[in-house]
Amino acid sequence: MDVLVVGGGLAGQAAAAFVAAHGLTCTLVSRAPAVRPTSRSQLLSPAAIGALDVLGLGDIVRAEGVDPSKMGDTIEVATLDGPELDRRPQPPAEPGAMCFSHARLTSLVEQASGAEIRRGLEVLDLDGRLSDGTSVDASYIVGADGTDSFVRRSAAIPTTGPGELARQAGVLFRARLRHDFAAARINAVGGMLLPEDDPDTWLLLHDGRSPDPVRAAVGDVDVTVLGSFELPVISMAAQRSRAGRVLLVGDAARTDPPAPGLDRGRIVTDAHDLARRLAAVVRGEATPEHLDRTDG
Ligand SMILES: Cc1cc2nc3c(=O)[nH]c(=O)nc-3n(C[C@H](O)[C@H](O)[C@H](O)COP(=O)(O)OP(=O)(O)OC[C@H]3O[C@@H](n4cnc5c(N)ncnc54)[C@H](O)[C@@H]3O)c2cc1C
Repeated sequence: MDVLVVGGGLAGQAAAAFVAAHGLTCTLVSRAPAVRPTSRSQLLSPAAIGALDVLGLGDIVRAEGVDPSKMGDTIEVATLDGPELDRRPQPPAEPGAMCFSHARLTSLVEQASGAEIRRGLEVLDLDGRLSDGTSVDASYIVGADGTDSFVRRSAAIPTTGPGELARQAGVLFRARLRHDFAAARINAVGGMLLPEDDPDTWLLLHDGRSPDPVRAAVGDVDVTVLGSFELPVISMAAQRSRAGRVLLVGDAARTDPPAPGLDRGRIVTDAHDLARRLAAVVRGEATPEHLDRTDG
């Protein structure tokens, strides 16, 4: 086997699909049994959409994606039932950029992938031992296993950056609310209200101080809480993206705090670039140092 990819989020699926498109043998192992549905919208640059053409997905993104300028405004309120304090359009994006559902893109890439995909299993070490007792013997390991990357730690790749900046509390709930915004900054709870794909489902990110954050944010309306969670907000980068036969991509290589207009399409372009370099090295057309280069 040429490549073992650890992690089945967007970075892992993209890396595995691009590696397989280059004709290398590749197995992807993901602990998550399925793609996690999220409301997240992926801002994809023209370069990222062009890379997706390799998988036959560029035209789907161009047809189904939303022009960033048409995503709607970000408003600011004290509470959603009070007056608007501010209203701003989305930050300008590169011409040709598109917003596209993160979960749908991950699923499409998985379906288009020529890699073997093994879900519901954990990679236990850099020898490719898996939680079901089998193992994958691969020349290269790509760690696409998220911010708290076990691959990065096992390969002793240090990180720079402040690390955890804050903890972000969130509530997913159903309610009939106004729909004239893409995101609402809600000062009463120090957070953001975001619409999910389902029109009456909402995600409230808040500072964790209010005992009833949904009521404090949206006022006196009928609400059904579907779930609550807490996530770290992290800013960090791996000091290098390779150690020997181990490479990193996606949040394992670099994690930025969520911000409106931030181009996450780099996950796709980085995975595309990593696959191109890996293919050249595996075919003997370049030395392993080619994997460290940051240009052409
Ligand atoms: C609150 C929040 C809001 C966000 N909003 C946006 C947004 O609007 N737009 C946007 O583009 N981005 C957004 N992001 C960022 C985006 O979600 C991440 O950048 C992206 O999901 C990273 O993808 P990844 O594949 O690198 O990692 P992940 O999606 O974290 O995937 C890592 C995978 O590795 C698996 N794994 C871990 N360890 C192992 C192991 N040992 N063996 C096998 N599998 C393993 C995990 O199960 C997981 O499936 C947001 C992030 C957060 C936290």
